[in-house]
Order: sequence, then structure tokens, then C-alpha cells
Amino acid sequence: FNVPSPENEPVKSYAPGSPERAALKSAIEEARSAKIDIPMYIGGEEITTEKKLPLSPPHDHQHLLGHFNEGDAGHVEQAIDAALAAREGWTKMSWEHRASIFLKAAELIAGPYRCKINAATMLGQSKNAYQAEIDSACELIDFLRFNVSYMAEIYKEQPQSSPGVWNRIEQRPLEGFIFALTPFNFTAIAGNLPSAPALMGNTVVWKPAYTQIYAANVIMEVFKKAGLPDGVINLIYVDGPVAGDIIFEHPDFAGLHFTGSTQVFQQLWKTIGENIHKYKAYPRIVGETGGKDFIVAHESAYPQEVATAITRGAFEYQGQKCSAASRAYIPSGMWDEVKKYILNDVKDINMGGVEDFSNFFNAVIDEKSFNKIAQYIDDAKESDLVEILVGGSYDKSEGYFIQPTILLTKDPQYTTMCEEIFGPVITIYVYQEEHFLETLELIDQTSPYALTGALFATDRQVIEMATNKLVNAAGNFYINDKPTGAVVGQQPFGGARGSGTNDKAGSMINLLRWVSPRTIKETL
Ligand code: GLU
Repeated sequence: FNVPSPENEPVKSYAPGSPERAALKSAIEEARSAKIDIPMYIGGEEITTEKKLPLSPPHDHQHLLGHFNEGDAGHVEQAIDAALAAREGWTKMSWEHRASIFLKAAELIAGPYRCKINAATMLGQSKNAYQAEIDSACELIDFLRFNVSYMAEIYKEQPQSSPGVWNRIEQRPLEGFIFALTPFNFTAIAGNLPSAPALMGNTVVWKPAYTQIYAANVIMEVFKKAGLPDGVINLIYVDGPVAGDIIFEHPDFAGLHFTGSTQVFQQLWKTIGENIHKYKAYPRIVGETGGKDFIVAHESAYPQEVATAITRGAFEYQGQKCSAASRAYIPSGMWDEVKKYILNDVKDINMGGVEDFSNFFNAVIDEKSFNKIAQYIDDAKESDLVEILVGGSYDKSEGYFIQPTILLTKDPQYTTMCEEIFGPVITIYVYQEEHFLETLELIDQTSPYALTGALFATDRQVIEMATNKLVNAAGNFYINDKPTGAVVGQQPFGGARGSGTNDKAGSMINLLRWVSPRTIKETL
């Protein structure tokens, strides 16, 4: 049995006049007016409650997209029970059968559901058409297809046997249920976090961020349509601490698959630690958390490439990527030229709603996020350590819009050089060429994170030296490219230090966390 060898899903451009653009436009129209009532899914049942919470596009917060049904502690218990009840049937199912369900889901997204899931991501999360396409279509499809091929590799790997002795490894699913806690910023991650453990034979309770529910609902629809049996993935909308209290106390809690903030992840880890004696087995904890991702240019770099990396790395999807460039180090002799290119790039950035495809730049996710980012900008306005080079204004009257903002600081330890902002703000520090080595050291030590980073240089000796110096500063290190946009199967994604457990999303490393191998020696 050979699984299809995966290829990255080609990105559609939605060019003016193309049929796919027309189809996406009408999916957006339909989604804007549908006013859907989004249920939870527990044990295959669609669950509605008395508590209907509104969903609106972040760029148009007075427009009602529909409601979702919020659950309570009872629903968390039901979801765990449903996951445990589905376990036996699912673990006994052949892996080929499980694989075919997720491959089918990938085909559905690539074909009939592509516009629907992109429209949901665009409206629910304020992502432009191109950013939605590479996320909710291509990356999610890639996760599903590549994970199936990695799974096949894992099952193929067997130990040596000898005459009269047959050794084998059985990749058992974990004994219990997995809790997938997913973020707002990537629909692909929201789909990958529950499906990766499920693919390996586990059953899952999935709680998405409330700000991503509009697209999460489409993912669940696709999984069901692809033939996912009832109870294998249970999707609930319950307040975090309410869900956590029940899940982390449960003896069958077997693993956490998380993407979100460092602070929440550390809190969950602590809670799991406090409850460790209650569990049947040591739970697997897999998390991708914050970042303070850097761009460093050496004097041998091309200034225009550096400038493009800064604007694209910092401002695509409003900087709401764990991987977004948020601090840059530029040699003084190059600065004027880099600045000229940056100013030229940003003057063409259109800001507005996703419905108008000429808007590259849209809104940040919600008011809480808007206020936090605005506070960093206000503080910068008052500080004499920093000047605002670009942007610096914001307006939440219609949507949560923050202008792409570039700060220039003379203090490499200034707050915005160290703390994660998760918004469209990048801070630049101009260093003296003779201090390149010290600058690398500074980069390594300025923040507790180590997710992504980019080095720009053409001198091969420098590339080698800096790559070695920054060995622990990033889990994804880019040479002469922006630090965002990892592609499944090409740049396995994840960081260490404060950025997570570095179990590389969409890789064999990640899938191996969702099995507990049994070695069997049979004497014949
Ligand atoms: N994988 C994404 C990238 O390479 C970032 C994911 C995230 O923000 O969590 O840009």
C-alpha cells in the first residue's frame, strides 16, 4: 500500500477577471448574509444552547455574520465522554482507512470547499484573499496530505528480527483523549492541531479561539463530509478556564496540542504538572507559542531585499503571526537606502476591509488586541528613545485598524525590541558595522523567544559564522528571505526556548508525539 506522494497545493492568485475570483467573491457575499447559527459538535451531534454569542468581521464590527452557541462545563464533560466512547472503534480502524478520511478532507478543501473556507477565514479573521488562500486552503491541505505520508513512514519503520525471533513495533495511540487548543491566526493550524493526533488513532476534544469559530465550523463540516466517525473530533466553544478545570483534572487526559500565547501555555503546563498524579500516563505536551522574530542585515546584503523582508515580514496579516518580523538590525551604512525602499513600499499599502481585494492590509483581530497594540504605540510616542518612522495611528470606529507602524530606536533593549506585540509594529535598531558580532549576541539574548529569524548577507563566510552564532536564536532560520511563510514539507515549523516545544508542525516529529509505541518480541 503506497500513499499518494504529497505535493504542495498550488496557490491560486484570484487575479482580476479570473473565474476563481468571481467564485470567491460570491462565497464572501453569501457568508456575509448567511447569519448562521453555529453549533458545537459532540459525538457527531450538532449542539445548540441558550447562549448565542455574536460573530462579526474584525474590519466591520457592526456587521453581524451570525452566532455561535457557547457551551458550559457539562458540554466539556460530554465532549470528553464522546471522545472516549469513540476511541475503541477509531483505534481499531486500519490506518489506511483513517488516512483516506483525511486525504478526502484535503480533496474537499482543494475543490468544493475552497471558496467557502477562504471566505470564512477572510470574514471571520480579517485576512486578505491571498493570505487566506495560503492559510486555509493550501497550508491546511498540505498538513493533511503530508501528515498522511509521514504517518505511513512511521508505521513502516520496524526493528530487526532474527531467525526464530520476530520483533515488531506497534504504534499505539495514546491512552485517553487529546485536547487541541487552537489560535485565531491560522485556519490551517486550527485544522492541523486536532487532525494530526486523530490521524494517529487518537480521539480529540477541540476548543478553538472564539475569534476563529467561523472558519473552524467549516473545517468540521469538511471532516464530517469526508467520513470522520462521530466522536473522533469533538468541537466545543467553552470559556478557557471552565474547559481547563475539567480537562486537566481528568484521569484520561493524554495530551495537549496547543498554539497560542506563551503565558497561557506556561499556565497550562503548570496545571498539568499539579495534576500529574491523577493521570493514567504522562501526558504529551506539544505547544507553539510566542515569538520576537528578527531580521539582521550584514553590510554585504542587498538593501532592497532587506526592506522587502521588513515590510512583508512585519505587515502581512497585520503582523499577527508568531513568525512575524518584529525587530530589525540594520548596519548604519546601509540604513538610508533601506529606509528609502521601505518608505516606497509602505506608501502603496492599502488598508481596509477584505471584501475589496486591493486592500493588502486589514484589521487586527479584536478590541483587546487593538488596545494592546495601540498602547505600545502610545508609549513609543512618549518615549525619547524611539521615533515613529511610519504609521503610528489607529482607529476602531468601524473595524480594528492599526496603521502599519515602524519604530526606530537608539536603545536595542527598548520594550518593543523585546516583547511580543502580535500586531503590525516593527522596531528597527541601526548598528555600527564594526559591532556586527555584538549585534548577533544582542539578538540572541534580547528576548526569551526563539521562533524565527532572518539573516541577510551575501558574504558566505559571514553567513556561516552568523548561522552558527545564532544557533539557538530561532527554530526556523532564514538566509536571505523574510522570516515568515514556512511551507509544509519544505520548512517544518516551530521554535524552542519561550516559543514552544519545537515539535515541528506538519512533520514526523510532531506525529510521533501522538503515539506510544509498544515493542513486541515474539519467539517463534
Ligand atoms: N507557520 C507560519 C509562518 O511560517 C506562522 C504560524 C504562526 O503564526 O503560528 O509564517
